[in-house]
Amino acid sequence: MGSPLMNQRHQMFLLDDVLDVGRLGHWSAFAGQDRDDWAAVLASAHALAVQYFAPHHRLGDVQEPHLHEGKVVLPAAVETALSAYASVGFNAAAAPVAQGGMGLPYVIALASDGLFMAANIATSGYALLTRGAAHLLLAHGSESQIRRFAKPLLEGRYFGTMCLSEPQAGSSLGDVSTRAVLQPDGSYRLEGSKMWISGGEHEMGENIIHLVLARVVGDAPGVRGLSLFVVPRLHVDAAGCLGARNDVHLAGLNHKLGQRGIVNTFLKFGEQGQCHGELIGERGGGLAAMFHMMNEARIGVGMGATMSGMASYRYALRYARERRQGRSLEQRDPTQPQILIIEHVEVRRLLLRQRALVEGAHALCLFAGLQVDIKAHAPEASTRQRAAALLDLLTPIVKAWSAEFCVQASDHAIQVLGGYGYTREYPVELYWRDNRLNPIHEGTNGIQAIDLLGRKVLQDDGVGLRIMLDFLRDSCADAPSPWQPFATTLMALGEAIQRAVMLTKQRLKSSGPVRALADAHDFMIACGHCVVGALWLRQALVAERLASKGDDVFLSGKRKTAQYFWQHELPDATAAIGRVLAGQGSVADVQDAEFGE
Ligand SMILES: Cc1cc2nc3c(=O)[nH]c(=O)nc-3n(C[C@H](O)[C@H](O)[C@H](O)COP(=O)(O)OP(=O)(O)OC[C@H]3O[C@@H](n4cnc5c(N)ncnc54)[C@H](O)[C@@H]3O)c2cc1C
Repeated sequence: MGSPLMNQRHQMFLLDDVLDVGRLGHWSAFAGQDRDDWAAVLASAHALAVQYFAPHHRLGDVQEPHLHEGKVVLPAAVETALSAYASVGFNAAAAPVAQGGMGLPYVIALASDGLFMAANIATSGYALLTRGAAHLLLAHGSESQIRRFAKPLLEGRYFGTMCLSEPQAGSSLGDVSTRAVLQPDGSYRLEGSKMWISGGEHEMGENIIHLVLARVVGDAPGVRGLSLFVVPRLHVDAAGCLGARNDVHLAGLNHKLGQRGIVNTFLKFGEQGQCHGELIGERGGGLAAMFHMMNEARIGVGMGATMSGMASYRYALRYARERRQGRSLEQRDPTQPQILIIEHVEVRRLLLRQRALVEGAHALCLFAGLQVDIKAHAPEASTRQRAAALLDLLTPIVKAWSAEFCVQASDHAIQVLGGYGYTREYPVELYWRDNRLNPIHEGTNGIQAIDLLGRKVLQDDGVGLRIMLDFLRDSCADAPSPWQPFATTLMALGEAIQRAVMLTKQRLKSSGPVRALADAHDFMIACGHCVVGALWLRQALVAERLASKGDDVFLSGKRKTAQYFWQHELPDATAAIGRVLAGQGSVADVQDAEFGE
């Protein structure tokens, strides 16, 4: 078996053959680049991930961040890995060349990030946040903020954070209580506390740049009154020189189930009344600006979930090819040698389901990543608009579906290893613990599902859903006869999704949002299975086409996994959308007291 991180043929099959990213090379934004350049970027990312990120995955978990004389202590390998990452330019992979970036397509940057995530999701989290903060500043910051903050973030000299959550305001950002007080000179002083801030305090790099949601005193309650501020740990003057420490301090560390290698902090802003913040963009436009980083982070979380699932699957597969136990159902003779567990049909079921979920989620994440490039750079305005609408719809699906099902893949990996999987001697328990965060952060899966059914499929007269269904129709058109029933099932699922949206519109009016959105989670699953199913059908058809020039186990494995997804996973989506259509509201009907004492 090749790399522990990724079947590289699968990755190139998705990028080249299924998603046809090569067409991006014809667009002016990527002039002079081609798929060989991108394959070289992925090879370089893979080599760095194996050399610098994978070796301290367990160490970062065992030696979790702790305080020594008031400073956060991390294993030295974390900073070494992030320096190596930055020195090759990966912080700036997707940033435009004019702004000091590598100018790569976003989908290639995302695919290469996936390799670092597969190697060590915790350490790669620092890079994800740093890059996201830089991209937000490039989009919404002033010229001075771009020069003083975004550039050093892209160079890897500074680290970034996103500071949204507070103890009383997690899912409900409208309840953020951090205040910003306007000063006579036009600057702001912030006061408040932020909970759960990843990478909030450490000694790596020259500075930490916090992007903080706060409410200017006197502004409206709720999310409309929120503004976004850049709050550096160390002051940065107009020339970009570092000054004294700003009034932002660590109040405590949070001790997590997984992803322990990335420090998680409780931060206090302005305890001495001297926390200087600079407004980013418009006052009151904070959440809209923050969404730039949150949407990128949601795709990143979907990719992270996928890659922890991928690493789990690949470890379980390797183990199943080495571990001997028992004999086949047809050969019970105890004098015969034990067989490899991969020969047991139940172990194959676990492996095949893992593969169908993680490679399906990988296709989904890269498909969404491609929409980022199309939205920004396609030559025709109408193509850009369609990609924007599709991306908006896909973002909660990428986050929630990948997190939901790739945690299941990590769970199955433990099952494949049996008792050994339940011990810390093997990495699959760590992959599962790492992965278990993904349904929670960046908006819980519950919040994503409500956003999808209560807003995304309804907004702009349902344009995003129509484009998703067009994609479904394109994927199913001309499926040859062996795959026709797969296409028929998918089309029926798409029609049921459309009916469910119509019914939801009516129910919102007749019964109100609590009942109308009671089955939002089922709706999210149905939509995710629908898009992932369409992408699996595409993988099957491409594999069939390539096999006509010469078949091999990679291509037949793709076809069989697609068939598994259709026959074993899609029925669950049909059942889920059936529950949405029935709308019996059994969950909404249960009274608090009826849950029991
Ligand atoms: C390890 C870790 C890292 C994090 N990193 C960051 C970070 O860097 N920056 C940052 O700002 N935040 C960060 N977070 C915060 C994270 O985004 C929140 O934990 C998350 O948004 C949920 O908020 P909460 O924990 O307060 O849970 P709550 O909001 O209290 O939710 C509890 C439960 O209630 C449900 N719920 C709540 N409200 C609703 C609703 N309106 N409708 C339906 N269901 C609802 C939720 O789905 C959840 O199941 C991190 C969290 C963790 C655990």
